[in-house]
Amino acid sequence: MRAILDLLPEELPGEGYRKAQIAHWLYARGALDFAEMTDLPKALREALDREWRISEFALVEAYPSRDGSVKYLFTLLDGKKTEAVYMPYENRKTVCLSTMVGCPAGCSFCATGALGFGRNLTAAEILSQILAIAHHQGISPREIRNVVLMGMGEPLLNLQNVLRAVRVMLHPKGLALSPRRVTLSTVGIPKGIYRLAEEDLGVRLALSLHAPDDETRRKIVPTAHRYPIAEILEAVRHYYAKTKRRVTFEYTLLEGVNDHLWQARLLAKLLKGLSAHVNLIPFNPWEGAPVEGTPKAGILAFAEELRRLGVPTSIRWSRGQDVGAACGQLALKVPRPLTFKPTLEDAGR
Ligand code: SAH
Ligand code: SF4
Repeated sequence: MRAILDLLPEELPGEGYRKAQIAHWLYARGALDFAEMTDLPKALREALDREWRISEFALVEAYPSRDGSVKYLFTLLDGKKTEAVYMPYENRKTVCLSTMVGCPAGCSFCATGALGFGRNLTAAEILSQILAIAHHQGISPREIRNVVLMGMGEPLLNLQNVLRAVRVMLHPKGLALSPRRVTLSTVGIPKGIYRLAEEDLGVRLALSLHAPDDETRRKIVPTAHRYPIAEILEAVRHYYAKTKRRVTFEYTLLEGVNDHLWQARLLAKLLKGLSAHVNLIPFNPWEGAPVEGTPKAGILAFAEELRRLGVPTSIRWSRGQDVGAACGQLALKVPRPLTFKPTLEDAGR
């Protein structure tokens, strides 16, 4: 049995307008079963059901946070697990998707990094996260208007599959998302950034910088040994020139590591002329983390220094901390007893 979500709308099975009908059932209606596709001839529905599967998950568990976000834990068909987060607030429904099981990059402050690398997710497994969330929320997949690739994994190290999934997200017969509403967050793999620029999909890029100098960055981001900041910024400049999309720089503030005001000043200098926006992320703690977050006063002072120097800066107070759904907490753990554990799909096929 093959994964139908691995196909672009024009590659779907069926002749002529049948492809568009199937795409509509999948992405507008959120059908998880071919039997629901009642305007297809019964013989076609049965043939589809024999050859193709829609869901990529054996099990989906939902962990709602007190703040309205919901963490989803997916058991893949091979038994491995990955996660996504649904964030319905701020008048736009957003999902944060994973691109891998675990992550090979090993950033010191990230719980996913501490898991190590499991495997890449297929395009179908990336898209299936959206369909499962929409199904559980009782909404059309197309009602999800914002996608961030900021869950488990480094998207630019799984570029082939990520690109295919993003193409379906942007496709008018797929999820029909505006490219401005799709954000790919990367630890900074120059090759991948150039490739993404070449593809010209127009998606937003978020660069996880976390330090303005290589010495500091190498202490917390192991890939910094391979890719110096200057090389990454050159790739980012190229991306900006090509796409005209303002790049966001993410910066998780860690006490005594990257939160000195001289680092704010160096960061401002570094980003000059880049039309950049800085997103400061307060550290989200997890058990066994070797670092500590900067206290609130330090976060505000760092932000103030950047703003004073003319750098547009926001602070992303994370949601979903109580269920381990905040940035960098995705590690397949549920940090408090469950009060609610619905099973969405037990397709297992
Ligand atoms: N691998 C990609 C995308 C996933 S991580 C990347 O690194 O960009 C998404 C964001 O969460 C990154 O900016 C990452 O640096 C940040 N992050 C990781 N662990 C964190 C933590 N414990 N607290 C706050 N932010 C964290
Ligand atoms: Fe991987 Fe991103 Fe976590 Fe680093 S921060 S370990 S790149 S998921």
